[in-house]
Amino acid sequence: MKRPRILLTTASSPSHSGLDRIDSLTGLNYCEAIVQAGGLPLLASNLQPDLAESFLEGIDGLLLTGGADIDPYFYGQQPHAGLGKVDSERDEFELALYKAAKARNLPVLGVCRGIQLINVAEGGTLHQHLPALTNTIQHVQENRGSALAHELRLEPQSKLAKAVGSNKMRSNSFHHQAIDSLGAKLRVSAKTSDGIIEAVEGRSEQFVLAVQWHPEMSFKAHPEQHLPFQIFLEAVKTQTFGVKS
Ligand code: MN
Repeated sequence: MKRPRILLTTASSPSHSGLDRIDSLTGLNYCEAIVQAGGLPLLASNLQPDLAESFLEGIDGLLLTGGADIDPYFYGQQPHAGLGKVDSERDEFELALYKAAKARNLPVLGVCRGIQLINVAEGGTLHQHLPALTNTIQHVQENRGSALAHELRLEPQSKLAKAVGSNKMRSNSFHHQAIDSLGAKLRVSAKTSDGIIEAVEGRSEQFVLAVQWHPEMSFKAHPEQHLPFQIFLEAVKTQTFGVKS
């Protein structure tokens, strides 16, 4: 079986080994989810944004992974007192990758920080510190990543709802930020009962799907959690090989 090549973004993290080294890291579970959906995961370090075009040569889909808060500089706001650690070099590199993927009409999947990055790239803004909002439900669960927490209300016409076969599903939740104003060319495909946006899809020809939760942590215990990866890889395969497999 030919496997389409999926580029995954990473976090730049000082090495815990004591060596003078910065590690490029992301979860092995994202890679396993991509493999299970029929793709081949390849990881990109956060380098100069002008390398984004070159990174996408020979790549069939882009997965923007989870990580730290996004620097509010990129959506024109000052840092809220509750803002977490940011990595503006990663932000700049991922914004360039998203822009280059868009120019190539490449399918894009965003997870957690990924949905926020896509929203900022499309001109939207974020809630910088969700605990500052009143009347929200819990979005940083205490249980393990594989445990499901809050319920999602899916937009009936969304790709997600069609794949799930229902207007409801549950998800885990580990996020400090969330979409505030929605970026152009995006539509909401899931919310929680408190109105927080939990998934978006693209409005244009390009396949864009992004989720605020972490299906890569829960798909082994809950098979329906693998659906975002399956929908993404179906779009990638259709575009790359011209057929649904
Ligand atoms: Mn949530």
